[in-house]
Amino acid sequence: MTSEYTGKERRRDYPIMLKRYERLLEVTRTLTSTLELPVLLHTIIAAAAELTGTEAASILLLDANSGQLRFEATTNEDLVTMDEITVPLEGSIAGSIFTSMKPLIISDAASDPRHFRKVDSQTSFDTRSILGVPLISKDKPIGVLQALNKTGPDGFDNSDVQTLETLAAQAAIAIVNARLFQQSDLIAEMVHELRTPLAALTATSHILMRTDLPAERRAEFVGTISEETDRLAKMTTEFLDLARLESGRARFEREPFEMAELAHECVGIVIPQADSKNIALHEQLLGLPNVLADRGKIKQVLLNLLTNAIKYNRDGGHIYVAGEVKGKRLTVSVRDTGKGIPPEALPHIFEKFYRVPDSEGWSQGTGLGLTIAKRIVESHGGKLNVESTVNTGTTFSFSLPLA
Ligand code: ADP
Repeated sequence: MTSEYTGKERRRDYPIMLKRYERLLEVTRTLTSTLELPVLLHTIIAAAAELTGTEAASILLLDANSGQLRFEATTNEDLVTMDEITVPLEGSIAGSIFTSMKPLIISDAASDPRHFRKVDSQTSFDTRSILGVPLISKDKPIGVLQALNKTGPDGFDNSDVQTLETLAAQAAIAIVNARLFQQSDLIAEMVHELRTPLAALTATSHILMRTDLPAERRAEFVGTISEETDRLAKMTTEFLDLARLESGRARFEREPFEMAELAHECVGIVIPQADSKNIALHEQLLGLPNVLADRGKIKQVLLNLLTNAIKYNRDGGHIYVAGEVKGKRLTVSVRDTGKGIPPEALPHIFEKFYRVPDSEGWSQGTGLGLTIAKRIVESHGGKLNVESTVNTGTTFSFSLPLA
């Protein structure tokens, strides 16, 4: 967007503009000094609100898996609820900024039919005016930076647009760099994790070569080899899944389906595993409306939660799969009566390769299942939640849009 200043305006605005550019330079320096995406995003929105003189600012990034925009950061305190909100590309202000790749000023959000009211209705924020600019990398939009509610009587002007566009240009570069770094980080982590089972395999196969090994020890080592190769195989599949999800190459096919029916199918798959520990499965999903989601991907989530509920349950325990309609979404929960997760481990449970320290005694695992499940749920605009009490049990729950 080109600015059309008159000479008078330019003279009047000059000191303000100079101050803004000084501040922009400072922000750019901060942006180039970190590769941590959350830190970057917060620097960007704080600067956006400050430089444009607005009450709040937010960043929405394209979730390539779902093809929708998602709130990634906001100066609004209500972030907890905000990051569950996805915004469709069609029929929303952010969506039209994204698709047109042009800045947009909305001076009266309430009267604009494209204003996505869900944000205001789910948070205590009241959007009056919006200045939004696209975040562009290599000629393609990756998201939208928005400044909300200009303070003062005059509304947004050209210099606000210019300032926000300059900030957005720097922000887009920083975001893309941070993502590239995350990907190379993922590969480094993966290689590191492969070392443990590989080391176990090398050691055991060397011992097996000894001719003086008693038969029972030999059987034990063969068992280890079999377990570690299983783990390696699972790791490679899950790693590929995660890499696809993180890079946005996973395709999501949404269709309406019945949750009760899918849950029943998944329960059928895990019954042999549950039987071996005398665990009873209870399905409480009948009579619920259809959801709109990727059935195959949700099946993956449910199977992961169910197998965990079995693996970390006690012998003779119970598992309850239930559903509840809340507003326009269906919340699905998987509750077990197992060993629970200690409070200090809970914040890490969705991290890649994380396993609660004593988990190995209960079951072999990769620590990737929940990371993948969380990504899939988030691509449906939901959140994977966990509640747990040690020695009592754990409940995982997530919500999906109704069809
Ligand atoms: P994995 O089960 O392969 O280790 P996950 O990502 O599925 O990997 O789970 C990560 C960790 O979370 C597990 O190692 C376990 O310590 C803990 N966990 C997951 N589900 C449960 C559960 N239902 N009850 C107790 N702990 C659990």
